[in-house]
Amino acid sequence: MALEKQLVYAVTGASRGIGLQYVVQLLERGHKVVAAARNPDKAEGLASLAVKYGDALAMVSLDVGDPASIKAAAASIGKACPDGIDVLINNAGISGTIVESTEQDADEFRDILMINTLGPYLVIKEVLPLIRRGTKKQIVNISSSAGSIGTEAKNLRRGGECIVTHAPSMATKQVGYRASKAGLNAVTVAMAVALEKDGITVISMCPGWVATDMGNTATEALKVDRAPLTPRESVSFQLEVVDGLTLENSGSFFNHQGDVVLY
Ligand code: NDP
Repeated sequence: MALEKQLVYAVTGASRGIGLQYVVQLLERGHKVVAAARNPDKAEGLASLAVKYGDALAMVSLDVGDPASIKAAAASIGKACPDGIDVLINNAGISGTIVESTEQDADEFRDILMINTLGPYLVIKEVLPLIRRGTKKQIVNISSSAGSIGTEAKNLRRGGECIVTHAPSMATKQVGYRASKAGLNAVTVAMAVALEKDGITVISMCPGWVATDMGNTATEALKVDRAPLTPRESVSFQLEVVDGLTLENSGSFFNHQGDVVLY
């Protein structure tokens, strides 16, 4: 059902979870979507959407851990969308094993930084010519309140309880993930500053605690029943925030409810 002006969105990590839900809801709204995933042909959710939406959905291969793959994906997106893209949803990410921050493995730490920080930066760099050609000119980096250094500092005074989720022991875990999302937030601000003159809006977005493969891993580790948000709820809230973005918001860190999160 085409209710809005058709825009072009590119979503990374589109095979499942929050990324797939972005693709679903953007197609439902009548937009054109480029779904970038490591193995798009093997993503069942994308296959059924391709049948339903035809040309409105383009699929490209993208491994954000591999700079050559990012370059190739940007070229494929350019072929699929010669007039450019309006909004990049830079969503792909990993959490790594949930371990105490004193026990993070060095190789895993490096991988998390590659996929959650450097990869999204390289995606921005490679698709920038396409964003410049688009009308909305927006970049949404899917971050996490776990990457909020200001929140971390507050957690220190709370005996390990996370100030955002109120989870009893999460704040002492996942240093690699926390550092990677803090790094992504730094990328957001640096790109916002660098691209303001070009009218490009760049923000970080925390999707909330969402019942996806990643969100459920945290649920199991914390022994709670379920994550508070379904992917549909989270993305529907996030899209309200994204829809309302202007250049004045560039450089901000929002949660799914549109509240500003501390860097
Ligand atoms: P999932 O684990 O459910 O999905 C992760 C997605 O990222 C998958 O599509 C996966 O693809 C993709 N991905 C992982 N590594 C790569 C890679 N090297 N190249 C390309 N794609 C890759 O996680 P969520 O959907 O929950 O997470 C999405 C984003 O939201 C992440 O950035 C995460 O940090 C963030 N977030 C999630 C929260 C939650 O509660 N769920 C809370 C805060 C932030 P594949 O199928 O190929 O593995």
